[in-house]
Amino acid sequence: QTKQQHRNRYQFYSPEMNAQLQERLALENELYGALERNEIQVHYQPLIDLHARQVTAVEALIRWQHPTWGLVSPAKFIPIAEANGLIVPIGEWVLRTACAQNRAWQSAGLPPIRISVNLSARQFEQPNLLQVVSQILQEVELEASYLELEVTESLLMVDIQRSVTTLKQLRELGIWLALDDFGTGYSSLNYLKRFPFNMLKIDRSFVHDVTSNPDSAAVTDAIIALAKSLRLNITAEGVETQEQVDYLEMRGCHEVQGFYFSPAVTAEQIVQMLKQNSQPNQTIAA
Ligand code: C2E
Ligand code: MG
Ligand code: MG
Ligand code: MG
Repeated sequence: QTKQQHRNRYQFYSPEMNAQLQERLALENELYGALERNEIQVHYQPLIDLHARQVTAVEALIRWQHPTWGLVSPAKFIPIAEANGLIVPIGEWVLRTACAQNRAWQSAGLPPIRISVNLSARQFEQPNLLQVVSQILQEVELEASYLELEVTESLLMVDIQRSVTTLKQLRELGIWLALDDFGTGYSSLNYLKRFPFNMLKIDRSFVHDVTSNPDSAAVTDAIIALAKSLRLNITAEGVETQEQVDYLEMRGCHEVQGFYFSPAVTAEQIVQMLKQNSQPNQTIAA
């Protein structure tokens, strides 16, 4: 037995592993009461239509403000919530909060926009998903066409036939459907045409170096061409520079989202942006 193999055998008991496990357990413990303690909030990141140069949608992004740890990244706690099922009540709360917020903006006379909400695999599997969604829309009196749900490729591949059925039912309600993080999953292009999506969101890992890495540019171009042939709208995520905006615009990308325009901000800050929307001859950033 080599030293390496020997080490691997005992890796499970290493102190780092133990620390990771401890952290995870602590996070999980705290997550249980987080909603009730009002530690969870929703922030909103604008999506800018490159043609109209206006905010046409916002993505709801969850934020957990822990009293002693501060802001905990969704990348850290969403997988835990996903594993223990807490994502179902949390996700439903995000959905209701986001839809109610969008309705409130409309009621305040602001230009109507879509609200985009991430749906986790666990939520997608819930047999009552359709009822939950339509119930929330009714409750907050939001028209279905102002809600968009984002799902990822891997979630769809668990049971393709069932995914097709669920997505079709959601589409029939009038909701928009977006395929998030596109290009990172392993879905066959063959299936893509069976799913009733309206939108493809190019993953930010491609956008990140689209102007410097020919491979990323090639993937981005291919995704845009694919989306066009399937008559889907395209959003690029993670846009951070003017050069990226120019590139994406030249290639015919419809919408962009990223720190170049704005990170996820509070509902009040979105109001200010939407007020600019309604003023003629006003363009956002750039
Ligand atoms: P996502 O759905 O792909 O959301 C986009 C992520 O990219 C957000 O991270 C956003 O802050 C970040 N981002 C936006 N623009 C830029 C940019 O220009 N540069 C860089 N580097 N990053 C940018 P965030 O908020 O940390 O969320 C991470 C992930 O957590 C989300 O990825 C989504 O998968 C998940 N998530 C967030 N909120 C929810 C939720 O309410 N429910 C579920 N199920 N998942 C959520
Ligand atoms: Mg998303
Ligand atoms: Mg994404
Ligand atoms: Mg994501």
